Amino acid sequence: MSFISLSFTAIFLTSNGQSPAIHYNGKIIDLHVHIGLDEQETKSMSTTQANSLRDILSFMKSIPIDKIGIITMAHKGDMADTRRRNDSIIALSKQYPSLIPICSVHPMDGEEAFVEMARIQKKGVQIIKLHPNTQHFDVSAPEVAAVARKAGELHMILLFDSYSLEDPGEIGKLVLLAATHPDARFIFAHMGLMNFSQLLVIDGLKKYPWFKSNIWMDLSAIAPVLGDSPFREQLVWTIRKIGITQFLFGSDFPIFSPGEAIKGLHAMGLTAAEEKQVCYTNACTLLQIQP
Ligand SMILES: [Zn+2]
Repeated sequence: MSFISLSFTAIFLTSNGQSPAIHYNGKIIDLHVHIGLDEQETKSMSTTQANSLRDILSFMKSIPIDKIGIITMAHKGDMADTRRRNDSIIALSKQYPSLIPICSVHPMDGEEAFVEMARIQKKGVQIIKLHPNTQHFDVSAPEVAAVARKAGELHMILLFDSYSLEDPGEIGKLVLLAATHPDARFIFAHMGLMNFSQLLVIDGLKKYPWFKSNIWMDLSAIAPVLGDSPFREQLVWTIRKIGITQFLFGSDFPIFSPGEAIKGLHAMGLTAAEEKQVCYTNACTLLQIQP
């Protein structure tokens, strides 16, 4: 493939401002965008920007971004609300084909959560969002393993938040959950954030024939927070050790804007070919999108 055909057209200065770097400037899939489904929700996540459908569609045009994963989060014990949320996300993705539906269940809803997973899978949903902090569950709980088993049966992907202030063992629990449920696929959002180096254990797991490489990570939050920090070299080294094919682009909008996320990614100093994998081709492979 020729250099030009990869469309690495944007030229910026590197973070230290010394040498020019060429960045990937082609199609982007942002797999981590929170959408507010009502008036209150559109204002409750960020002090600086709202996250209504209109806000999301307007930044998609301005960046531009090809596809966006819109996320909702289920509350425990309210299946009517969970179904309403998931149906809203699915309806939006049908109305706007550039929106990828990321639905949710609560692991402690047990059998009802499995029924909901099967229902939305039939409607074309591939990704389920789970958030141990916000949904208040422990990743090692048997109910979470049951959701992972169900995701494996349904060939679904579990998008887990992977940063906990309270549970220092959470990365290990997530990795074990993925390793023991090889039929399910997992995305660890934020790449563990401040705990990213613990994910190096994935490089060790790759040596075992039974490990199915079913863990991906999105760089939401971690790219703008650590991309231009003293941790940068360690972060990039860890990403390359695990394997660049496992990394995805995400903004975590409205916490960060896609512009901030892209700036953070550029500051990391990956090659333009690696940026293309992170921003686009890895997500196409994972979600079976025709590039
Ligand atoms: Zn998020």
